[in-house]
Amino acid sequence: MPDRSHIVVVEDEPVTRMTLTSYLDAQGYRTSEAEDSSELDAILQHDPADLLIIDINLAGKDGLEITRELRAVSEIGIILVSARSDDVDRIVGLELGADDYVVKPFNKRELLARAKNLLRRTQAARQLTRNVRHFDGFQLDLSGRWLTSREGDLVPLTRAEFELLKILTMHPGLVLSRERLMQGITHRSDGVNERTADVLVRRLRAKLERDPRAPQINSTAHGEGYIFTAALE
Ligand code: CA
Repeated sequence: MPDRSHIVVVEDEPVTRMTLTSYLDAQGYRTSEAEDSSELDAILQHDPADLLIIDINLAGKDGLEITRELRAVSEIGIILVSARSDDVDRIVGLELGADDYVVKPFNKRELLARAKNLLRRTQAARQLTRNVRHFDGFQLDLSGRWLTSREGDLVPLTRAEFELLKILTMHPGLVLSRERLMQGITHRSDGVNERTADVLVRRLRAKLERDPRAPQINSTAHGEGYIFTAALE
């Protein structure tokens, strides 16, 4: 799945700004451009960003000041861009909470590598705190107990369907017997009806699979049980 993270480039020099955003666009990211801190604020109000690339040398509030203000309220990823190669901006920037730092003229590929790295780190941190699992375009939030579809819509799940999906995603790639699934769903070890697992699996597939007759997410291990076969991202 392409990473559709939202990246905002804050830079007052139009050519540099547009070159960078079109490069990131071409890599599949969603990008926005801001000339200064007020444009950045306007963007963030409507469309929260996953990563900011901020030039230090801006008209009005400079990149360091923006970093300090944002860091006080947000864990968003920040890469600072400086025109100076000495260590002063770098140290101040990192002290203020920037995550990374590049010096002009920078290599776009190097910046991309740093951006990817940072996005991976912030996404992992977010998943950890929110306990969210991503697979095949779906998002399963185990704390909030909700599932969103590939289109971003909420998928209504019954309690049992939710518990079933939770157990499956907690053991990706492992065959889980009907008995084990039912124990996880009912939290009982005796008197569970294993046929119920088949019914629940069928209902879950109807909600998840592109083709429920050829399931890619929740496959059957014939004679043994079921297995979560989608890649967890
Ligand atoms: Ca500038």
